[in-house]
Parts: sequence; C-alpha cells; structure tokens
Amino acid sequence: MKEYQSLSWYAARIKPHLPKEAFKPVPSRLLGGLAFLVVIVAGFLAVGLLELNLWLNLLIAFVLGACYASLGFLGHEILHGTVVRKPWLRDLLGAISFWPLCTGPSLWRKWHNMNHHVHTQDEHKDPDAWITAEHLEKNKLVRLMYRIPFFIRATFSLFSLAMTFTVHSSRMFKVYIKDFDPRNRPKVWLQLILPWASWIGLLFWIGFTNWIFVFLLPLLIANFIVMSYISTNHRLNPLVPVNDPLANSLSVTVPKWVDAIHFNFSYHTEHHLFPSISPKYYPLVKEQIKQRWPERYHEMPFLQAMIALFKTPRLYYQQNELVDPRAGNRYGSLGHGLDPNNISYQNPGEALPTSEKPKNKDV
Ligand SMILES: [Zn+2]
Ligand SMILES: [Zn+2]
Repeated sequence: MKEYQSLSWYAARIKPHLPKEAFKPVPSRLLGGLAFLVVIVAGFLAVGLLELNLWLNLLIAFVLGACYASLGFLGHEILHGTVVRKPWLRDLLGAISFWPLCTGPSLWRKWHNMNHHVHTQDEHKDPDAWITAEHLEKNKLVRLMYRIPFFIRATFSLFSLAMTFTVHSSRMFKVYIKDFDPRNRPKVWLQLILPWASWIGLLFWIGFTNWIFVFLLPLLIANFIVMSYISTNHRLNPLVPVNDPLANSLSVTVPKWVDAIHFNFSYHTEHHLFPSISPKYYPLVKEQIKQRWPERYHEMPFLQAMIALFKTPRLYYQQNELVDPRAGNRYGSLGHGLDPNNISYQNPGEALPTSEKPKNKDV
C-alpha cells in the first residue's frame, strides 16, 4: 500500500458501507442552533436588565462564549451544505451562525471549503498554514519570537488562542477579497461589516460594562474553544504531498455531551474524508476507517492533543519533523515518531541557522 492515498481512494472504499440517508441534508441540526439562540437571548436579557454581581456576569459571559463557539461549529456544518441545500438559505443560516465570530459565509466557503479542504497541509496552498518559511526569513518579529525560550513561547501561543480565530479571519479577508468577482465584492464586504457594526452599535446601546460581558469576553472564550479544536486538527500531523486525510488530520475524542454541543466537530479526519455528509454520521465513518486502516488512523483524547501541542514546536523541518530552531531539538510528527504518551526529541547537536528554511506553520 502506498505511503499516501487520495481522499477519493478512501471515500470509494467506505461509501458503499454507509447508509443512503447519510448523504442527505439533515435540517433537524438547526434545532440545536435554535436552543443556543434561546440561551444567548436569555443571557443578553439577564446582563442587560438585572443588576447581577460580577461573578454571575462572568458566568453568563462564559456560557455565551460557549454558545458562540457551538454556533460556529454549526455554521461550519451549514456552509458545507449538509443541513440545507438551497444556497441562499445555506448562506443566510451560515451568516447567522458565524455572526458572533464576525466571519461572512462567502469568505468562509472560499477560505475553508475551497482552499483548506482542497489543499490540507500543503505547505504553500493551505491557508491555515498561517506563516510561511519566508516569514521566518524576512519577518524580524517572528524571528525574534523564536529566540524566546520555548516554554514562554508555548505559553504565549496557548493564551493567544483566545484571539487567533478573529485575527486569522481578518487576515483571510485581506487575502481572499481580491479573488472574488468584482460584482460579488460588495456582498462579501457587507458580510464583514454588518456583524461588526451590530456589535459596535450594541456597545453604544447597552454601555461598555455590559458589552464586555455579552460580546468581548464571550468572543475571547469562543475563540479559545474553536481554536483549541482547530489547532489539534492538523498541527501534530506532517506536511504532505498528497491530500491524505488519514496522514494529515487528527480526530480527538471528547465526552459524548461535548460532542453533542459541539456538533461532532471532534471527528476531523472523518470530516475531511466526507465534508459533504452530516457530522451526525461521522461515528459510522470512524468505525469503517478503524476496521480498514487502524495503523494509519490518528486519534487521541482532546486534552492529550493539547498537551502534545504545548510540548512541541510549531515549525516544520523537512515535512515530517517539528523543530525548535533555537535549541535545534527535532520532534517527530504523527505517523513519524511522535508518541503523545512520551514526547521526546533528538538533538543533532546544533541550533538551526534561520537560513535553513524550516517550514513555519504558526507561532
Ligand atoms: Zn481541517
Ligand atoms: Zn470543514
């Protein structure tokens, strides 16, 4: 069997074993979204109308952040077309779901569906490879960051997850807006401006303190939740020459109730294999993968993946290794020697000069 197989190679072998209804849209997923909207409205009313103490307001901010993240996961699913098929309804529901994260449906589909899914872990074409090797060479700030001791840098990266989605989404807008047909650009701009305008308008309506509890803090919390998953999705995997979802993706495991409120977002390898079937059916896809290719499939508990991320650098060295350029320590990636139970590294004896051009994936 070849080292890498294509998406279609795997899909062709699993498809006949999935039920026919798995390939139909599942509008009932919207009921979950409705439940989150009800909680959000209740949270807004409680913060706006009741004079609650700081701790209760913080608790509400946390719940709102969790709801915004869950709506984001539902929005992801909707914009893959697995909930409703009509494009205008898909985009409208996707826009509502991504409203708290201020990401428009047209931009998301371009960035995520048409680029991240098509070019996953391609060092040049995957837009979620945030900073390229040239950045390490040319960007003094990034080079400076890699001089910071590893533990401090890793801690900073962990906390920065609370802003990363919003920052990355704004960057994606800048990257992709020019690729839209000029006739569609006003729509894409409007999808960016309307959510931000509504949240800024809310600030003047309800005052700064209440706004912190219903928008600013929840936005940071939602960023953290969404990014915790997104960082585990591919960053422990190698860069790959073929879009092989078993090689370039990781599924994490979480308690069942977490899967329920996060719309099965933990099944990421399954999602890359069948982005157009409802995540409701991903447990069936997982069963099929594990029966056929257990040695190729990567899966681990969510917390273990987060710890592995914390303990490894985010700079690729020759596709399959991760390297800390400051100390020269080299770690394996999943399928190439990385053991999440015992993270260790090799040190060939010298730090990498920055001109070695390792493939930087993020800071
Ligand atoms: Zn992905
Ligand atoms: Zn997706």
